[in-house]
Amino acid sequence: MDTIQINHLTKHYRGKDTPALNDVSLTISAGMFGLLGKNGAGKSTLMRILTTLDQATAGSIQMCGIPITQRAAIRAQVGYLPQNFGFYPTMTVSDALTYLAILAHVPARDQHRRIASLLAQVNLTKQARTKVKALSGGMRQRLGIAQALVNQPKVLIVDEPTAGLDPEERIRFRNLLAEFAQERIVLLSTHIVSDIEATTNRIGVLDQGHLLFTGTTAQLQTQA
Ligand code: ADP
Ligand code: ADP
Repeated sequence: MDTIQINHLTKHYRGKDTPALNDVSLTISAGMFGLLGKNGAGKSTLMRILTTLDQATAGSIQMCGIPITQRAAIRAQVGYLPQNFGFYPTMTVSDALTYLAILAHVPARDQHRRIASLLAQVNLTKQARTKVKALSGGMRQRLGIAQALVNQPKVLIVDEPTAGLDPEERIRFRNLLAEFAQERIVLLSTHIVSDIEATTNRIGVLDQGHLLFTGTTAQLQTQA
């Protein structure tokens, strides 16, 4: 079974007295896992470490059996949608994905089929020739998911994806993530409790770098 195992992870940023992550241990298994916490709790830091964009000060991570220190192997199985992901606004949807497929070393003969299938999965087939700047916020987030899935990762990491979406788009986006979580690990960070309640009951709560709670949303409510 695919899992992410995080053991005693600590992250100190230079010049900061308090660590952004403080001895965090957590096992995340297949399906959707929600990471809750206020701004500054350490969510983005944890996600950047999981995607190898940043390194922990102490502790270890195994992702589907691979140590996080094997960065190339980890990157091959992680898709990441950062907060405020910026596409080139004048590219078309299809060109933006082609560009990312090239960067991800998707073989040229597979690119067309891969992109057509991604566009269908995120429901943007009709927008293939639309410029990114003309997309709605919800469409842009769905394009963000398509870009994160370009290398067919086992793990999808999504940072605060619903900020700035209207309620209807937010629900569509959650449902899409829930679909993807049927065959992958999806790690969703948010400060919006309802995003998580609607999609998973497996959550962790970060507060000032400490993992305060892991369990189900129902358990969280009885604790609170
Ligand atoms: P979030 O909304 O997740 O809290 P932040 O506003 O904390 O995001 O961070 C946005 C970007 O700024 C991130 O790339 C983060 O690494 C960087 N950043 C955040 N806080 C600091 C800081 N005190 N010093 C330097 N960079 C920071
Ligand atoms: P969250 O994503 O939950 O909002 P972050 O991981 O962005 O939290 O931030 C956790 C803490 O680490 C905050 O105090 C933030 O200011 C700090 N931080 C984040 N990125 C950096 C950075 N690049 N340099 C210094 N401090 C940072």
